[in-house]
Amino acid sequence: MITSEFPPVEILDVPIHDAVLGRAQEYGDRPALVDGVTGKEISYAQLDVMSRRVAAGFAELGIRHGDVIALYSPNTILYPVVFYGATRAGATVTTVNALYTADELHKQLVDSKAKLLVTISLFLPVATAAVEGTDVTEIFVCDAAEGYRSVMELVASTGPEPEVTIDPAEDVAVLPYSSGTTGAAKGVMLTHRNIATNIAQAEVMIKVAEDERIIAILPFFHIYGLTVLMNLPLRLGATVVVLPKFDLDQFLKTLEAQRITRAFVAPPVVLALAKHPAVDGVDLSALKYVMSAAAPLDGELAEACAKRLGLHAVLQAYGMTELSPGTHSVPQDDQEPPPGAVGKLFPSTEMRLVGADGNDAAEGEIWIRGPQVMKGYLGRPAETEATIDRDGWLHTGDIGRMDDRGYLYVVDRVKELIKYHGYQVPPAELEAVLLTDERIADAAVIGVQSEGNEVPKAFVVPMPGVQLTEDDVIEYVSARVAPYKKVRQVEFIEAVPKAASGKILRRELRAREAAARE
Ligand code: ATP
Ligand code: MG
Repeated sequence: MITSEFPPVEILDVPIHDAVLGRAQEYGDRPALVDGVTGKEISYAQLDVMSRRVAAGFAELGIRHGDVIALYSPNTILYPVVFYGATRAGATVTTVNALYTADELHKQLVDSKAKLLVTISLFLPVATAAVEGTDVTEIFVCDAAEGYRSVMELVASTGPEPEVTIDPAEDVAVLPYSSGTTGAAKGVMLTHRNIATNIAQAEVMIKVAEDERIIAILPFFHIYGLTVLMNLPLRLGATVVVLPKFDLDQFLKTLEAQRITRAFVAPPVVLALAKHPAVDGVDLSALKYVMSAAAPLDGELAEACAKRLGLHAVLQAYGMTELSPGTHSVPQDDQEPPPGAVGKLFPSTEMRLVGADGNDAAEGEIWIRGPQVMKGYLGRPAETEATIDRDGWLHTGDIGRMDDRGYLYVVDRVKELIKYHGYQVPPAELEAVLLTDERIADAAVIGVQSEGNEVPKAFVVPMPGVQLTEDDVIEYVSARVAPYKKVRQVEFIEAVPKAASGKILRRELRAREAAARE
């Protein structure tokens, strides 16, 4: 068993709104949230009061302890207002992927038994179609739309703030759905204690200062954004600059204009920062830290990005929805973190690396135990049992190995390893090699069947204006990897399918492959 080198943190057995907004009145007029597009601001004192009013409004609507409210919105400055308003009312927030279709939203509303849906006017066509046949009694919008009440009406509510007693260890604060990268998205029950303690753990590695300005480009609906872009900086008194979606030009402009000090991103953004010509000429002198998580990031790419931005390193973190989400990150004070490592084990967290034979191994499946382990999957006891064993270990489904400094490297997901003649080939490693080729803008790798064998196939997006053949790609990779890892098939595509959280959707490529074979 591996334990953290950092001293244990206090378990935060408090409601998440208290953990985050406990000092909001003290922070007072300081901007908590800034709309990166309009410049509109919400101060800490306002955030505190507005969330209390929204709680009163929800209570007047009949929301009670344990009810579920669905939040289906891109990042806006009202997102945290609704979120903490809901938890103050004793409700559970089920955060919904802003890219969801009506069918997907419908499924989540049914599965979570949500009673209210909060969205934005732009999403109303999807939202109204999705609520048919669900428990949702009313749709609210964060902005304004005819025929719908606005969150601002809740903010104006004059009723008493509800008095609810929350049990932080048992009550579910947030019910995000896993990304659905490998299968159907599952509702993940995270208690107040889970997500509050995970901030305390993250703070030891990620030391956000009060005067920092953080860009919230990753979605709040995903647990990575919720914890590190919303809960963590708002607890510490920093300013969160919110953008509704990723657009490279707008992102770069905002980094410059808002003097952003820290960016939490996913690998596709690191890729853009390392390779895209638009980055030249942008003044990024305020930017001190870039951290990437949610999907594999290659060391060479990280180094290229750091060098271009004048940073000592691109920091990495690792986690999953079921872990609130964090278990590892590179401590920001480490001046020479090993490139490619996802980080060191969080305080108050234990890890095992378990080989196929069930014994501890140098490289194996990452198992985690700690206060950030989810309560379980909603309504899926068998899947919960298959994921968290009787001793409390959560089996992540990811393969990792550790170096002698205590840094973890994530090899790939167990399920995604390509089995070539008895050898295991991690697609993430081949993707990383492909991205080192200047002629390649982006790439993804999956295993495909060929003459009774599974072989690596690369889907490649060439750089604009570059002439590239399949053989060029195969040769480039084979010069850099062991023979059994060679890419054996290549297809050129326009874009690699990715989730909003930045993950490569290899299952979409597999579906496309299967369709082509029929
Ligand atoms: P689903 O479980 O529904 O298939 P998902 O696992 O992609 O979806 P998330 O909880 O959003 O849903 O993602 C967690 C996964 O993301 C981890 O299990 C791991 O595979 C991957 N991941 C997260 N951080 C990193 C990282 N730094 N490096 C490599 N992989 C990472
Ligand atoms: Mg998962």
